[in-house]
Amino acid sequence: MSLNTALLKQQVYINGAWTDADSGQTISVVNPANGESIGAIPYCGRSETARAIEAAQAALPSWKALTADARADYMHKLCDAIMEQVDDLAVLLTSEMGKPLAEAKGEITLGVKYIRFFAEEGKRIYGDTIPSPWPDRRILVTKEPVGVVASITPWNFPNSMIARKLGAALASGCTMVMKPAEFTPYSALIYGVMADKVGLPAGVVNIVTGDAPAIGEEMCENPHVRKITFTGSTRVGKLLAANAGKNMKKISMELGGNAPFIVFDDADLDKAVSGAIASKFRNSGQTCVCANRIYVQAGVYDAFAEKLKTAMSEQLKMGDGLQSGVTQGPLINDAAVDKVAAHVQDALNKGGTLVTGGQRGEGAGTFFEPTLITGATIEMKVAHEETFGPLAALFRFDSEADAINLANDTEYGLACYFYSQDLGRCFRVMEALQYGLVGVNEGVITTEVAPFGGFKESGIGNEGSKYGLDDYLNIKYSCLGGLGL
Ligand code: ADP
Repeated sequence: MSLNTALLKQQVYINGAWTDADSGQTISVVNPANGESIGAIPYCGRSETARAIEAAQAALPSWKALTADARADYMHKLCDAIMEQVDDLAVLLTSEMGKPLAEAKGEITLGVKYIRFFAEEGKRIYGDTIPSPWPDRRILVTKEPVGVVASITPWNFPNSMIARKLGAALASGCTMVMKPAEFTPYSALIYGVMADKVGLPAGVVNIVTGDAPAIGEEMCENPHVRKITFTGSTRVGKLLAANAGKNMKKISMELGGNAPFIVFDDADLDKAVSGAIASKFRNSGQTCVCANRIYVQAGVYDAFAEKLKTAMSEQLKMGDGLQSGVTQGPLINDAAVDKVAAHVQDALNKGGTLVTGGQRGEGAGTFFEPTLITGATIEMKVAHEETFGPLAALFRFDSEADAINLANDTEYGLACYFYSQDLGRCFRVMEALQYGLVGVNEGVITTEVAPFGGFKESGIGNEGSKYGLDDYLNIKYSCLGGLGL
């Protein structure tokens, strides 16, 4: 399975043209499975970003003047073009990011679903008429695109995180400037390739890569940008939210999580194990909705630990994501491996028991073995920080109230999961958990038709679903007088 180099764009996409950084500087992109460079991308800064924003602003009037149907046509064509090359695009994604090929293909397919969903949802941006308190006036409420949207996205879902934002922006009549993560730029730059292919008007989509803080500053300060949409760490999200706030720009923030995964005594243990495998080890544990703290009730703790250990050894295979049968690709870089190693060491120092895994992989790739630790306690780092890697730490609890308190004891509130076959408990716990996403007897719940957003420090706003368009629209109230009524 070789890389289709026609898809490996080494330039940025501004106003429908491919260009280099003004400085000529580049950044190298590395395959995390083997440490080899797969290419280089422009190291842009504020000036290139300003030009991209200018192009998006110039393209805005004609893009928003199109009918929703015409915009949807472009969006479906973009999706058709992506799906025509989905196998090549999956190889590209795996080569720069590491996830297994099947997951890469799944991600691209999900990204397409988001864009297609929004293409149709854009036809349903309804307004209102409100009964007027004045007999001679009428009240209309209409919705308009906010304008130029700037997006900053992470490396763990380098295609679909963009698709969620791009779909909502294009459908609502906004134009866009995007900055992908420096580790995984090619899966973003392909949107430029596909935009060219389907004849999307120049300036509607622009892509810059390079100096993240400089690009972010230009996005937050340039008066033409009306909205910043970000997915990434809470640290950077707070920084961008503060800068965007200074200029009163709308923001959507999809930030970090610290997902609890609770297994009650009355759970279907086999389902809970499958859910834990999927939720914990998908993308080698590098998703913001990955189970981070696994709480198991005392009555089933030992049985669950045993079953999870068996399932891990039978189902998880570490290796280069391009090889068949591999379920656990490399982590994104050395820093990610160091963080998992530190969490494992900290847990062992504080009395945890290593059941399986616990070692870095050998060779130039940045691998870490799927790891299971029992006897986890709240003193450990894994209880408070997102590991973002393949470490499953099992905590023991006694009562339902304890589980709820432990689960909510965090500044994060993105995803949570629990397993129980008692209907009353399901409702009680679902309502008590302070999270934006709740998986009840399910470990993977993301879909384009449902809202995705966090409570507390996990973010602001929702992506996907009918709610996902709200943040890209301004509400306008028009009061019509002088009607001769
Ligand atoms: P992660 O830890 O998942 O890499 P980050 O929040 O560091 O999360 O990165 C997410 C995205 O934010 C990436 O595209 C990265 O380049 C970008 N980023 C990092 N620092 C800044 C910054 N100071 N300003 C704007 N974007 C940034």
